[in-house]
Amino acid sequence: MQLHRSYLRRTMLLAALAWPAASAAALEHLTIDSPRGDDEQISGEALVEAQDGGLLLKTPDGALRRLPAATIRSRSSDDKPLVPLNDEQLAEKLLAELPPDFRIHQSKNYIVAYNTSRTYAEWTSSLLERLQRAFIAYWKREGCPVAAPAQPLMVLVFADQASYASYAKKDLGSAVGNVIGYYNLETNRIMMYDLTGMQAFGGSRGSLHDITALLSKPAAEPLVATIVHEATHQIAFNCGLQKRLVDNPYWLSEGLATYFETPDLSSSRSWSGIGNVNYSRWDLFRENYHAGKTVPLKRLVADDKLFQSPATAVDAYAQAWAWNYFLIRWRPKQYAAYLKALAAKPLLLEDSPAKRVQQFRDQFGELDELESEFYRRMARVK
Ligand SMILES: [Zn+2]
Repeated sequence: MQLHRSYLRRTMLLAALAWPAASAAALEHLTIDSPRGDDEQISGEALVEAQDGGLLLKTPDGALRRLPAATIRSRSSDDKPLVPLNDEQLAEKLLAELPPDFRIHQSKNYIVAYNTSRTYAEWTSSLLERLQRAFIAYWKREGCPVAAPAQPLMVLVFADQASYASYAKKDLGSAVGNVIGYYNLETNRIMMYDLTGMQAFGGSRGSLHDITALLSKPAAEPLVATIVHEATHQIAFNCGLQKRLVDNPYWLSEGLATYFETPDLSSSRSWSGIGNVNYSRWDLFRENYHAGKTVPLKRLVADDKLFQSPATAVDAYAQAWAWNYFLIRWRPKQYAAYLKALAAKPLLLEDSPAKRVQQFRDQFGELDELESEFYRRMARVK
């Protein structure tokens, strides 16, 4: 069962005949049809403009909104630059959108909106702060130009599955029952719920010590891994490593997230173990390899179908972990260069399978040679 869905791939509505909007700073002021039926006023910077007037708009809260022409009622612009919302303004915006029992917990790089215990919100932000610190330090050492996000990252923590599901069904549809947390590329937020409230854990909500003890149990490991996985996506897309809404291949984005997802709750201050073997992914990969079920690299790279079908997704994630583990370890420079090339791609444009393969080859060389080295090295991983 797929426990998470990190990204919501939608049709790239604006891709047809679109071009990057003029680069001079300008703020668009729009009246659009809101899903609730009334009009919504929004302002932001147009990143892409379609020939029919549809827009990809960056708003001051860091969201990227796709606005089909048919939803835009009126539009005017001035030459002011986009000013990102500060911490207080972001918190205010979140509270205005959420039910009245939500509160805010703010840490250095995160704004957690929650209607569960304050202690759980603190546990969450402390976990994510440690992850972010370690993630950025890791890629800096690898020579990638990364930095802490300019704006704090937003996380919504619901008290229970039911309230989470009623909020998340607009994003996840029928998958909402299987997905315990997700990152939405467009709103740039993570949505999750209080894991300690789950039946399996007796529904207890205790002190920080109790929460840590409960979520350090083996039964909680895949759940915490999901939170870390989604948080890794959010950090990667906000620290300069990856760019939202370009054609990021799933094998890369998902493999990168699985590379970091092994939870480490042993210390409340640091985060060790990045780059360790992720045994749940590794075991499945090895099993599939021995059963002749791994897929050729070309198929993994050319499109995202294996990741999108429930029948093949879990195996594809395992193989993506293995490939990212291999490339980060044995091709670190090429991997960094590949990430850089992906981040430079145009917004909202989907590459053909041939182009995908070519972009891979540009950095890593011929697929056949690489594949034999991959299997040779991975066979020795313990
Ligand atoms: Zn993911």
